[in-house]
Amino acid sequence: MKPKVIVVGGGISGLAAALRLHERGADVKLIEASHHLGGVIATSQKNGFLMEGGPDSFISIKPWGLDLCRRLGLEKELIGTDPDFRKSFVVRKGKLVVVPEGFYMMAPVRVLPFLGSELFSWPAKFRMAMDYFMPAKKNGGDESVANFIRRRFGVEALERVGQAMVAGVYSADPEKLSLKSTFPQFLDIEQKYGSVIRGLRKAGSKKASGPRYSLFLTLKNGMGSLVDAIVKRLPTNSIELDAPLREISKNPQTGKWNASYGRGHQVEADAVVLALSSPKIADFVQGFDGDLARELRQISYASIATINFGYRRSDICHPLDGFGFVVPTKENLSLIGCTFSSVKFSGRAPEGHALLRAFVDSGTRPEVVQKDLEQLLGITGTPVMIQEADYPASMPQYPVGHLEYVQKIESMAARHPGLCLAGNALHGIGLPDCVHQSEEIAEKIMV
Ligand SMILES: Cc1cc2nc3c(=O)[nH]c(=O)nc-3n(C[C@H](O)[C@H](O)[C@H](O)COP(=O)(O)OP(=O)(O)OC[C@H]3O[C@@H](n4cnc5c(N)ncnc54)[C@H](O)[C@@H]3O)c2cc1C
Repeated sequence: MKPKVIVVGGGISGLAAALRLHERGADVKLIEASHHLGGVIATSQKNGFLMEGGPDSFISIKPWGLDLCRRLGLEKELIGTDPDFRKSFVVRKGKLVVVPEGFYMMAPVRVLPFLGSELFSWPAKFRMAMDYFMPAKKNGGDESVANFIRRRFGVEALERVGQAMVAGVYSADPEKLSLKSTFPQFLDIEQKYGSVIRGLRKAGSKKASGPRYSLFLTLKNGMGSLVDAIVKRLPTNSIELDAPLREISKNPQTGKWNASYGRGHQVEADAVVLALSSPKIADFVQGFDGDLARELRQISYASIATINFGYRRSDICHPLDGFGFVVPTKENLSLIGCTFSSVKFSGRAPEGHALLRAFVDSGTRPEVVQKDLEQLLGITGTPVMIQEADYPASMPQYPVGHLEYVQKIESMAARHPGLCLAGNALHGIGLPDCVHQSEEIAEKIMV
């Protein structure tokens, strides 16, 4: 008989789990609290602009996002970043300074652009180059991202670039963020080659030909098309919107899970996948496992908001010859970073216009951000369109030791066969990570 599975949460984690379960022959029911599927994925169109509130792309080096698109027949709709503008900027003393070519997150891989860069002082360049000669740390254990950058490349590398880049991706303080959970490749490289720069250069030279896909991919009509394509593959009656989970419990006699949701609905199933944030999962497991709930509540979340600004291109003096910029905390500006969305991907703004997307802390007023953008990019006119999106408690923070903590949580959850924890709290926040984890959960349910 087909196993029956309830998937709770219609973000990418829940959708990817539901799809894989359906493909493997399970009888799936996905319940979503809101009226909208996709969770933080929110593509919208206004006045000819195509905007993303949440994720605007996914990385292709982690294959699970790309594989999912291919399986859904979306390969032809994939678009990469424009190769002519593959550079980014960092704000330094109120000005945009280009990140030297070949600079990878924190490590300068190409010598000449790095030496010529005005981003770092000469003593800092010398300190960063020391990485080449420094041995690896003895034990390859976890440490904070900030500690790693300071240890290998010095304080300036952290303050002027590393901190801002990390905050731009993880909305997290690098002093607390686990290196092993977020950038394990740097730890591996250090252990293997001693020097991070040497390791990255070797890895780069091993690539016989250029990559087939750009590092960042999106879909022609926005990330919302991924959600639509998954929904199309699922049986119509398998999804219920406006159907918040209220309670789950296990029947000790039958071993089945019972979920009550929406306005008094009940459903019984062999397994339940909770594709929610960890404090929400904690609320639902509290009734039968207070210890697990307590552990799940340890994971803290940061809030983030985005503001899309549409401008007339002629009102922006900056050439916008890159994908955007990040802002070190030291600069004291209202934004964490900004993507030049219409440069990064084609089809995001109408002719003669540009779309800029600012990342800000929740609650930041658009007028303040607009002022900062005017200063940084030499903007003379007012925006023709502004659209805000707020994502409270959406970015889980992975502290040092996160992986051990994940093991603990998962072994506690294993005391409840059929209870599966998905979502971005444990195994990565990027879309490919969420998809991967959910697909693995689905496969485990179906063995
Ligand atoms: C602004 C922003 C930009 C990002 N940019 C990128 C990017 O460019 N690339 C990338 O790879 N990643 C990016 N990320 C990260 C990535 O988008 C997320 O980690 C991922 O989408 C999370 O998906 P999820 O399904 O786990 O959670 P969510 O998307 O939060 O979905 C959870 C769902 O559960 C529902 N729900 C909540 N409570 C209940 C309940 N009681 N019953 C039923 N349903 C419930 C919610 O309504 C929601 O739909 C970004 C995230 C944000 C916020």
